[in-house]
Amino acid sequence: METLEQPEGNESLKYIVVTGGVMSGLGKGITTASIGRILKNRGYEVTAVKIDPYLNIDAGTMNPAQHGEVFVLSDGAEVDLDLGNYERFLDINLKSIHNITTGKVYRSVIEKERRGDYLGATVQIIPHITDEIRHCIRRAAQEEVNGGRTAEICLVEVGGTVGDIESMPFLEAVRQMHAELAPQDMVLVHVTLVPADAMGNLKTKPTQHSVKALRELGLQPDIIVGRSSEMIGPQTKKKISAFTDVPVKAVISAKDVPDIYQIPMELEKEGLAEVICDYLAIENREPDTEWYRIVSREYTNRVTVAIISKYGIEDVYMSIKEALKHAGRALSTEVNIRWLDAEMFDLRDLADVDGILVPGGFGKRGVEGKIRAIRYARENKKPYLGLCLGFQLSVVEYARHVLGIPDATSEEVGPGTHVIALLPEQEGISNLGGTMRLGNCTVTLKEGTMVADLYGTTMTVERHRHRYEVNPDFISDLEDGGLIFTGTCGSRMEVCELPDHPFYLATQFHPEFKSSPTNPSPPYIGFVSACKKNKASTRAR
Ligand code: GLN
Repeated sequence: METLEQPEGNESLKYIVVTGGVMSGLGKGITTASIGRILKNRGYEVTAVKIDPYLNIDAGTMNPAQHGEVFVLSDGAEVDLDLGNYERFLDINLKSIHNITTGKVYRSVIEKERRGDYLGATVQIIPHITDEIRHCIRRAAQEEVNGGRTAEICLVEVGGTVGDIESMPFLEAVRQMHAELAPQDMVLVHVTLVPADAMGNLKTKPTQHSVKALRELGLQPDIIVGRSSEMIGPQTKKKISAFTDVPVKAVISAKDVPDIYQIPMELEKEGLAEVICDYLAIENREPDTEWYRIVSREYTNRVTVAIISKYGIEDVYMSIKEALKHAGRALSTEVNIRWLDAEMFDLRDLADVDGILVPGGFGKRGVEGKIRAIRYARENKKPYLGLCLGFQLSVVEYARHVLGIPDATSEEVGPGTHVIALLPEQEGISNLGGTMRLGNCTVTLKEGTMVADLYGTTMTVERHRHRYEVNPDFISDLEDGGLIFTGTCGSRMEVCELPDHPFYLATQFHPEFKSSPTNPSPPYIGFVSACKKNKASTRAR
């Protein structure tokens, strides 16, 4: 078995491993990100790794309606939405290697086997797969995340629930790491559910069982984070402590809160910082509270934004929701979202909203509804933000109703005049995994336009995830007709605007992937301020 040496030059690298018990969907990712934020506020450099025990190589081919949003990293990796939370909470730039999947681990081991790297050996889950997992974790932990700096503390979230067959090799790898590292170099955090019975009493049995399952795998948690609807009181904490051998002060109550950005503060109040710093044998420094100030800025206004969605679950649009929140906080404006189903909504649902947002999406379903919403926003001078597919459909809408090309459409949708067409490099591609135009692109913004004003520069880097583009044959007709392309990447159209509209902006890229509370996205700032103005002017009328 490969021994786990501390990486050269970074002898002090420490790990916080977060596992989950009882059921999925407890907010393990947000808990992980919040622990990271607490340490970051104390001046520690942190990074994060997400383990997804599925066989897919990445999240790119998964149905968002089942799995939630596919988040895109700067290097083009299509990953689990938790990595978006890490980036937003920790202001770091992660890469493909920070998302370890069973698919990636097995692929690598099988490639090594074919190359003959294990010549003579019978290749097995233990040690070959577990060695590979440990190698992946260690490599990701050492990757630069912050302008050339590497982390002092690496958070590792093990996806799934303890007891799942899929997670077993990962938990075994964690057990091996735990056995090899000094006690102060690895802390185990277990997130569980503490449900209430019909009388409202919090019950500890599910936590007892899940800790038991964890112990059977050789892992004793150092900290338990109990998710519950109410605060977990001292008696319940004592009981959990008695059954799990976790000290009472390391049983942390994490009750539901309305805004995820409050969670680090809530965990601080429970004494988590002190406990973690104790375990890791690091100084519990005086925290910088700037981040807390930013995420709890008072709201003095409220706007309502319609999102024309089609996947049915809000998690599909996680980064958009968060980006609206970031811009809203910066502008002291609470953004309420009215979710409208692209196939069912009525135009009257749009009459009293302050802005309309058409998000990204794939396939034909819902396209006509999105086009109706875009037309409504254009004709009624409602603030409008279009993203990726929303950008493409803005072009289709304009071509149909202003340029008079009634069968204008996107090649993705079906026959017609393809004002949106397949990217040349996509022609002939049959594999669907990881083959889109993905990740960072440098966009040139035309000086003197609204988008350049919003960014305060004429050059920016944003992230892509798409296969189609504006058909170059129609660009000059569209511009002559009034739809101006104000952002480009080489010969590709990236941003469009309507100068005679209060706020009409659409982007081929996804600005939401780079938004965070400390760095709200410029198009979202523009959109939310336009919504604010719209509200003020409709009130005045
Ligand atoms: N389906 C469109 C394309 O592939 C848009 C993708 C998206 O909205 N992310 O180009």
